[in-house]
Amino acid sequence: MSDQTRFILNESDLPKFWYNINADSPVPPSPVLHPGTLEPVTPDFLSVLFPMDLILQVISTERYIEIPEEVREIYRLYRPTPLLRARRLEKALDTPAHIYYKYEGASPAGSHKPNTAIAQAFYNKKAEIKTLTTETGAGQWGSALAMACNFFGIEVEVYMVRVSYNQKPYRRVLMETYGAQVYASPSDRTNYGLSLLAENPDHPGSLGIAISEAVEAAATSNGAKKYGIGSVFDFVLLHQTVIGEESLKQMDMAGEYPDVVISCVGGGSNFAGIAFPFLRENLKNGKRTRLLAVEPTAAPSLTKGVYTFDFGDTARMAPIVKMHTLGHDFIPPAIHAGGLRYHGMAPSICALYDAGHIEAVAVRQKATFDAAIQFARAEGLVPAPESAHGIRAAIDEALDAKAKGEKRVILFNLSGHGHFDLAAYESYLSGKLEDYDYPEEAVNEAMAKLPEVSFPA
Ligand SMILES: *Cc1c(COP(=O)(O)O)cnc(C)c1O
Repeated sequence: MSDQTRFILNESDLPKFWYNINADSPVPPSPVLHPGTLEPVTPDFLSVLFPMDLILQVISTERYIEIPEEVREIYRLYRPTPLLRARRLEKALDTPAHIYYKYEGASPAGSHKPNTAIAQAFYNKKAEIKTLTTETGAGQWGSALAMACNFFGIEVEVYMVRVSYNQKPYRRVLMETYGAQVYASPSDRTNYGLSLLAENPDHPGSLGIAISEAVEAAATSNGAKKYGIGSVFDFVLLHQTVIGEESLKQMDMAGEYPDVVISCVGGGSNFAGIAFPFLRENLKNGKRTRLLAVEPTAAPSLTKGVYTFDFGDTARMAPIVKMHTLGHDFIPPAIHAGGLRYHGMAPSICALYDAGHIEAVAVRQKATFDAAIQFARAEGLVPAPESAHGIRAAIDEALDAKAKGEKRVILFNLSGHGHFDLAAYESYLSGKLEDYDYPEEAVNEAMAKLPEVSFPA
């Protein structure tokens, strides 16, 4: 069918395995360091936060890790997700490029995040954990984990960045609908939160602070609670690879293979999810797909950050990892893409970027919303502000192909829908959207506070 637009897999095509990049990555992983001793962590330290099954996935070098049937059963509620060819956008751009997108907004929570939330809830249930703690920025991760924990009968405590808690009441209501307890962060439930509130009772919070509170709540629970993480950690990236595995089959149905695979990066999980299976094809099967990560100019950790060891959170309680960082003290400007406001990046993505296997670009908020509106008017779908960063880059690729008269095959991941982000669209449409440069001064200040790690010497 030459005008086919949707490429739909059968339930029987639901992946049975997650793909572990550590089996094929040409760059060895750096050690994860203890935030207190600055020495490599033992599984004991991580086991305060995570069940052993997840820790074993982080250190595994098996190429394929079987997806438990209990997890696949819930995946079937929304997977395989559709892949579409954006024919109307191609026409609007008058480009010879073919543009495809994988639509992860088709999950019940509206983003790719349930792919790992369901797995984490399952392994915690298996370890007989009754409560998970977590942070959420814009609310996407909190609602995914709330949904997943509800399915497995686990309670969830969500520390939600205070500005979002106030500005996005409906995300909070969605989490509560699934049964979660949601607290504005900084909160009075942790020592760290109390110390910040003593300084400033109206503290707006940040993702780094909310992570610290969720980690403290789990670490001080005497083993009763563990911590759920929405991005950055290797097991999260692993769980997201169902996106790329399905996309490979769907591109095959379309009879094409992508020249470039694009997605937005916050902590890097949805990008890894679509890109790592294509990277495997590059590394093992001689394919030459470019892999392009797209970040906001307001928090450009790959394109502007330094590749060094830094804390994963603001209170310096989370492990130290080697990554492209803007400094754990850096609080990014309040862009609408809350999921992209993180000071660091998944270490495995950083290592691959450093070695030249991945490309990165930073785009501005205004240009991102220009792309979001153009996409919504051409294709009908209103993207999450995070996803719109990938759309900006995909459109720029298509325009570049047009300028060069090339037929380029572009695949991007549409990580979520924007139905809870209409306030952001309102500010764009009323001409009030702020644009942000690279916040160089704030980054320089934060970079002065990096930990002095002598390992490895
Ligand atoms: C959380 C989120 C992101 C960013 O997180 P990654 O781990 O980098 O994928 C991107 N898009 C959406 C819709 C999100 O909810």
